[in-house]
Amino acid sequence: MSHTKLRQGIIDTCLEMNHSGLNQGTSGNVSHRIPGGMLITPTSLPYAQMKPADIVAMDFDGTYSGRRLPSSEWRFHRDILKNRTDVNVVLHTHSVYCTTLATHELGIPSFHYMVAVAGGTDIRCSDYACFGTQELSDTALKALEGRTACLLGHHGLIVLADTFEKALWRAHEVETLAKMYVHALAIGEPPRLSDAEMAQVIEQMRRMSYGQTPDLDSVADRPHAAKAKSASSSKRTEKKTTRAKAKPKTRPKAKKR
Ligand SMILES: [Zn+2]
Repeated sequence: MSHTKLRQGIIDTCLEMNHSGLNQGTSGNVSHRIPGGMLITPTSLPYAQMKPADIVAMDFDGTYSGRRLPSSEWRFHRDILKNRTDVNVVLHTHSVYCTTLATHELGIPSFHYMVAVAGGTDIRCSDYACFGTQELSDTALKALEGRTACLLGHHGLIVLADTFEKALWRAHEVETLAKMYVHALAIGEPPRLSDAEMAQVIEQMRRMSYGQTPDLDSVADRPHAAKAKSASSSKRTEKKTTRAKAKPKTRPKAKKR
C-alpha cells in the first residue's frame, strides 16, 4: 500500500472535521493529490472505522483501486485536482452556516475583510446540481475560479488548500464568516467593503504569507526587533543562558543559532 502517510492524513482530517463540529456523520469527504490522480475517502464508511487501506486511490481518468468504492463526490474532487494545479487538498462538508446561506443561494460578499481568505473579494455560491453528477462538478469549478473556497447551492461547502492543516483552517474561517453573515443579516444587509478596500486586504495577506509585516515599505512606524544589550553584565548572563539552553549537536537548527 503506497502513500500511507497521506491516507492517514485524510482519516485524521475527517475525524477532526467531526470533532470540531465542521461536519456530521459521513457527509463530508476529503481528497489529496498524488502523481496522476488522487487519494479520496470511500463512500459511506464512518470515519472512526476508516483504516488507511480503506482510502481509495483514483487516476484522473476515473480508474480506481482498493477495497472500497470512492466517495459519491469523486467527480468534483477529480476535476478540481486535475484543473487546479495550485492546490493539493479538496475538502467538502455540509457545515451548518455555509449550508444555511447556500440553501438561499447566497454566497458570502465582502461584508468582512476576512472574506479574502478564499483569495478574492467574495466567496461565490454555485448553481444547484444533484450530488455526484458531472453538472455539480462543472458548476463547482466555475464558482471556484480564482478562489480557494465556494458554497454549493442547496448543498454545502468546498475548500481547497496545499495541506490538510490549511484546508481545515480555511474551512473553519469560511464557516465562521458564514455564521457572522447570517447574524449580520438578522439586522439587515450589511454594507460591503469596496473592491479597492478588498484589494488592500488581499495585498496585506499576501505579504504576511511571505513572512513580512503589512505595509513594510510605506509605513514609518513598522515593528522592529529589539537590539541586543551591550552592558558586560548582561553579556555574562547571556552566555550563561546560552550554555544552559544548549541543545545536543544532532539538532542542526539549534546549533546554527
Ligand atoms: Zn455533499
